[in-house]
Amino acid sequence: MSAVRSICPYCGVGCGVVVEVRRGRIEALRGDPDHPSTRGGLCAKGSRLAGTVRTGDRLLHPLLRARPAEPFRRATWPAAVARVAGGIRRATAEHGPGSVALYLSGQLLTEDYYAANKLGKGLIKTPNVDTNSRLCMSSTVAAYKRAFGADGPPGCYEDLDLAADVLIAGSNLAETHPVLFGRLRAARARRSAHWTVVDPRRTASAEAADEHLQIRPGTDVALLLGMAWTLFEEGLVDEARAGRACAGLDGYRVAVAAMPAGRAAAICEVPEDRIRAAARRFARSPAALSLWCQGLNQSSAGTDKVSALIDLHLLTGQIGRPGAGPLSLTGQANAMGGREVGGLATELACHREWDDPEGRAQVERHWGLGRLPDGPGLTAVELVDAIERRQVRVLWVVCSNPLASLPDGAAVRSALARLDLLVVQELYHPTDTGELAHVLLPAAGWAEKTGTLTNSERVVGLARRAVPPPGEARPDWEVFADVGAALGAPEAFGWLDASQVFDEHVRLTAGRDLDMTALSHAALEAGGPASWPYPAGGRPRARRYEDGRCHTPDGRPRLVAVTFREPAEEPSPTYPLRLLTGREPDQWHTRSRSGRVAALRRSAAPRLALHPDDARRAGVSPGQTALVSSPRGSLRLPVVTSPALRPGSAFLPFHAGPVEQPAGWPNVLPGRALDPVSRQPELKHTVVRVEPAASEVALAGGPLADAVAARLGAAGVRARRVKPAELAGAGPGVLRVLVAEADLDGALAWWDLAPGAGGPVLLDLAAGPEPLALLPSLLAAGRPVACRGERWLPAPAGRLVATWLGPGGDRRGAVVVGGARRRPRPAPPGTLVLEPGGALGLERPLSGDPAVLASLVRGELPARAALRRVVVPLSPHRTLVLAGDPLGDEASDAEQGVDLLVHEDSGAGVAQVWRLAAGRTLGVAAVVAPAAAREVEAVWLSDADPDAVRSQFPVRAR
Ligand code: SF4
Repeated sequence: MSAVRSICPYCGVGCGVVVEVRRGRIEALRGDPDHPSTRGGLCAKGSRLAGTVRTGDRLLHPLLRARPAEPFRRATWPAAVARVAGGIRRATAEHGPGSVALYLSGQLLTEDYYAANKLGKGLIKTPNVDTNSRLCMSSTVAAYKRAFGADGPPGCYEDLDLAADVLIAGSNLAETHPVLFGRLRAARARRSAHWTVVDPRRTASAEAADEHLQIRPGTDVALLLGMAWTLFEEGLVDEARAGRACAGLDGYRVAVAAMPAGRAAAICEVPEDRIRAAARRFARSPAALSLWCQGLNQSSAGTDKVSALIDLHLLTGQIGRPGAGPLSLTGQANAMGGREVGGLATELACHREWDDPEGRAQVERHWGLGRLPDGPGLTAVELVDAIERRQVRVLWVVCSNPLASLPDGAAVRSALARLDLLVVQELYHPTDTGELAHVLLPAAGWAEKTGTLTNSERVVGLARRAVPPPGEARPDWEVFADVGAALGAPEAFGWLDASQVFDEHVRLTAGRDLDMTALSHAALEAGGPASWPYPAGGRPRARRYEDGRCHTPDGRPRLVAVTFREPAEEPSPTYPLRLLTGREPDQWHTRSRSGRVAALRRSAAPRLALHPDDARRAGVSPGQTALVSSPRGSLRLPVVTSPALRPGSAFLPFHAGPVEQPAGWPNVLPGRALDPVSRQPELKHTVVRVEPAASEVALAGGPLADAVAARLGAAGVRARRVKPAELAGAGPGVLRVLVAEADLDGALAWWDLAPGAGGPVLLDLAAGPEPLALLPSLLAAGRPVACRGERWLPAPAGRLVATWLGPGGDRRGAVVVGGARRRPRPAPPGTLVLEPGGALGLERPLSGDPAVLASLVRGELPARAALRRVVVPLSPHRTLVLAGDPLGDEASDAEQGVDLLVHEDSGAGVAQVWRLAAGRTLGVAAVVAPAAAREVEAVWLSDADPDAVRSQFPVRAR
C-alpha cells in the first residue's frame, strides 16, 4: 500500500487528501493532517472522492460523430486531435480566429489551464478563452482589482482563528465550505467571536450566527452603504487616517451620504438600529473579518456589492492585520489558479491586462507565438449570444457543463446546437453538454494526474497522480499540447510533463503581484504547499498589504464610490416571487461528479422551497407538484414550505441539468442580466410565478377531440372539452390542447391560440399511438399542444407527428415517424426522420417509446439537416457518397439511413459495401470492402458536412 498526497478537487477550501493505493486502486482516503490550510479536515464530498474515480460511466476513448443526432463512434486519439484541429483551422480560415472559443473550468489544474490559455490566446489567437469561474468569482476579481490594483484576497485562513468579529455576506459556508465553517466554529469555541450573517434566507450559517440580517434579496449594497453612513454620522471614522491610507475618500463620502441608515433600512427591510449596531461592531472590533461568496458575486451588481464590503474594511482600517480583512470564499478548487494563468477572457496571464502594452509584450515574448489578439474576449454568457449570431462556430468545453450551469438554459441548448463543432473534454459520459457534442475527449481526473491548485487563501499545492487514468483518458494539458502541435507549433507545446508546464507558467509570474518564482513541483514536493507571493529567494506571504501598500499606481488602496440599484428583474403581478438558488448539502455544481456518489445523494428529488404564506397564495401545499415559471421557461417540482425564507422569495437548488430534468431544469429560469464590470450573470435573483402544475387538460376541436378526451380520461387524466376561443382563459395549471382535423396548414394557424412559453407542439393524432402517449410528457412539461388528425389509424409511413417552434414562432424542426422506405415526398429542411430501430441516431426504437419522442419534441436532439445526395469520386476505384435524407425513390434499400458511404466502385466491392452498410445503424457508415480496407480506413469519415466535402472534392450529383 502506498500513500499519495493530493488535494480535493471540489471547492476552493483546498483540503489536503492522503490517498491510499493498493495495486493501482484507491483503497481509502483521509484528510492530510500536514496540509497547512486544512490540517486533516475533509467534508462529506471530499471524503467520498474515491467513488468518483472508477465509475461505470467514465469516458474511456475519444468519441466522434458528424452531427449530434447521430451515435458516437470510437476514434483514436490522433483522429480525434485531427478532427479538433481541422475544425479550428477551418473556422479560423473562414470566419477568423474569433469564431473559436474555449470554455474552461475552475476544476482544472493550473497546468491544464495554462496550456489551454496558451493554445487559445497564443496560438489560435482567439481572445475568447473564458471559464466557468465567470459564473463564480469574476465579481470578486473585478472588485479586488478596483480596490488593490490586483486580483487575490488580502487575508488568509489564519484570520478565521484570530477574528473577533466575522461578517458573512451571501455565503452559507456551513454547507458550501464546511471545513472552513468548522474551523471558524472551533475558533469561536476557543475564544469569543461574534458572527453577523447577511442573507435573505435563514440558512444553517445564519442559524449559527449571533446576528442575522435577513435583508430583502439584492439589497446588500444599500446595507453596506448604510453601515458606512452610520460610521461617518456617529464619528467612528478616522477620516484623516482613511484619507492618507486610501485614495477616493471624497467620492466615497458623497456616495455614502446618499444612503442614510434609515433609507438603507427601508430598502433592505431590516430595522435601522440593527444596521447601526452592525456598523459599530465592525468599526470598533479589534479584528473584523468578512467572508462572502456567490450571494454577492452572482448579481448584476456583484462587483459593487464586493466593493462596498471592501470599502468598509478600508474605511475602518480593518485590513492587513491578523484576523482583519476581506477574504473571499472561492467557489471552485482552482478558480484562483485559473485567474493566475489568465483563464478569464477579460485578462491576460499572471494578472496582466489586455490594454497594458508592456504586459502584452511580456506574454508575447514568453510564448513566442507572435502577436496576441486585440482582446478582451467574450465572456461566458456573451459567448452564448455570439454562438446564436453564428459569430462563434467552434466551442471547446473543458471540464465544465455549461448547458446546465448557464442562465437561460433553453436558449443555451438552442445555441449549442448551432455550433459547427462542439468539443467536450470530460471525465464522464453522458453529461448534459456532452449530449450535444460532436467530439468527446476523455480526460484524466482527480488522482489520475499531477498538477497544482491554488486555494482560497492563495496557497499553491501539488495534487499527485495516485492511480492510472482509465481507458485512454489523458491529462488535459496533454490534449491541448497535441492540438497545439497539430496546429503547427509543436515546439511551443513540447512539454514532457506537467512540471515543465508549471515551470513555464511560474517564469511568467516573475515580478508580478503573484510572483511565485520560488515554486516548482520539486519545491512543493519538498516543502509542501506554499502561499504566493513567493518570489525566488524570498518568503511566502500569507497576509498581503500589511504595510498598507498595494498594486495601484500610487500604492494606496482605492475606496470605490458605489450606488445601490435594484436587481435586473423586479417582481410584478405576473411574476410575483424572487427566486434564489443555491446548493444542496454535499452536492457540487451540476453534479457531474458528486452526483455519481450514491452516499451523497441524501435528498430526494429537488424541491422548491416557499414561505408558507406564498405557498398558500399560490394554491400549492407541501408535497404537491408546482409549475414554477420565469419569463424564459418553466419546470415542475414538488413544493416544501420553509419559514426560513422571507415572504415573497423562493429557493431552488440549482444542480440539475437536462439529463436529469429534461422537461426543464433550474437554470432555464434565470435571465442573462450581467454585472456591467465583471460580466457575471445574475443567477441569484430571478422573478418567478408558482402555480399548481397542470392537472387538467382543456381540449378544443371536433369529434377527434372527443376521442382524445376519452383516451386521456381512460389514462386517468382529467380532460375537459372547450371551444377554441376559451382555451386562452383555461386557467392556471391547465394544459391547453387544440385538436385540429383540418390539414396541417390549417392547424398551424391555430398555434396563435395556444399561448405559452416554450413553443407549442403539434401532434398528429392520426399517426398512431405515439402522439397520444406523448401527451402526458407534454403535460408534465407544461407545453401547449396543438393536434391534428383525420382518423385513428396505425402509423402510416412517413407521417409528420410533431413539430417544435423556436422562440419567435419560426419552425425549428419536425419529427416524422413510421417505417418509411419510400417517403411520399421529401421531408422539408430541418426535418428529423426517425426510422424504426433507431436507424438515424437513436439508440432505441421510437415505436412505443414516447420518452424518446418527447425528448425530440423538446428540442433536445437538434434537427438533422436534410442533405441532398452527393456522390464524390475520390479515385478511379473509390467513391464517397453522401446519402442523406431524403434518399428519394431511386435509393437502394441498402442505403437507407446511411449518411456517408465510401465504397469501391466495382461490382463485387459495391455489393459488399451495401451489405455491410445495411447492417449498420450509424449516421456514418464505415466500409470494409476487402480490397479497399486499408485505403478506406484512411478516409476521414466523420466530418460529413456536405458543403465542406463539396469544397474539397469535385462533386457529381447523382
Ligand atoms: Fe474540503 Fe471543499 Fe473538498 Fe469539502 S469540498 S473536502 S471543504 S475542498
